[in-house]
Amino acid sequence: MKEPIVQFIDVHKSFGDVKVLKGIDLDIKPGEKVAVIGPSGSGKTTIIRMLMTLEEPTSGDILVEGNNLWKMSKKGKQVRANEKHLRNIRGDIGMVFQHFNLFPHMSILDNCMTAPVNVKKEDKNEVRERSIQMLERVGLGDKLNNYPSQLSGGQKQRVAMARALVMRPKIMLFDEVTSALDPELVGEVLEVIRDIAKNDDMAMVLVTHEMDFALDIADKVLFLDEGVIAEQGTASDVIEHSENERLQTFLRRFR
Ligand code: ADP
Repeated sequence: MKEPIVQFIDVHKSFGDVKVLKGIDLDIKPGEKVAVIGPSGSGKTTIIRMLMTLEEPTSGDILVEGNNLWKMSKKGKQVRANEKHLRNIRGDIGMVFQHFNLFPHMSILDNCMTAPVNVKKEDKNEVRERSIQMLERVGLGDKLNNYPSQLSGGQKQRVAMARALVMRPKIMLFDEVTSALDPELVGEVLEVIRDIAKNDDMAMVLVTHEMDFALDIADKVLFLDEGVIAEQGTASDVIEHSENERLQTFLRRFR
């Protein structure tokens, strides 16, 4: 049995009086591909943002490779994690957002190179080679010197993926990465994710409404509903064979 790369232990999250997550327990193994589905407002993005350390849980623990995100041991005592501890953990996690979040004033190639070179202080030539490889992999090898404004939404999202891959994360997070795209551009982005899922051994967590896609690539599907994981199992168990009525009602909207 491989040790989990990610663990949520009784994680609760409230915003003011609103209890968004009410006790999430979750293990993700290295290399596992996990799809998170559920109605709008059920807390899917909050789970992803907490993994990216953009939100802190109200209670409970989140561990990445056994390291507690928000607590660290100091002289045998558990204390609140500092920025350096968080930065180290973040280095293993890549994220692709719904709205691309590319730097508009940088070329596509520079978008990919900036974090490894300027934050991780890696060798510039090596990073350039790796960035070109990744941009070729997502089908944009002929756009290296273009700027984001010159690309379609699907192309921008493929740059965002190449940029995340250049960091060689152990975990990739995808938050509804196709939902801001025109329908005709969704396929090309899903194709890139499919390629990553089938060929790379990093763990992946995908919030998605693309059920056929989840069926194709996910090892595990979680149905989040009213702040809890209401159903989890293989993609086929959850999407095709669950008898959970709320899940069935939810799925009817997407299939
Ligand atoms: P989902 O991704 O499933 O649509 P979210 O995780 O985005 O759900 O949001 C879950 C709930 O938490 C929603 O009711 C949303 O309004 C609320 N929420 C999320 N982020 C914040 C925030 N920063 N401040 C206040 N409420 C928030």
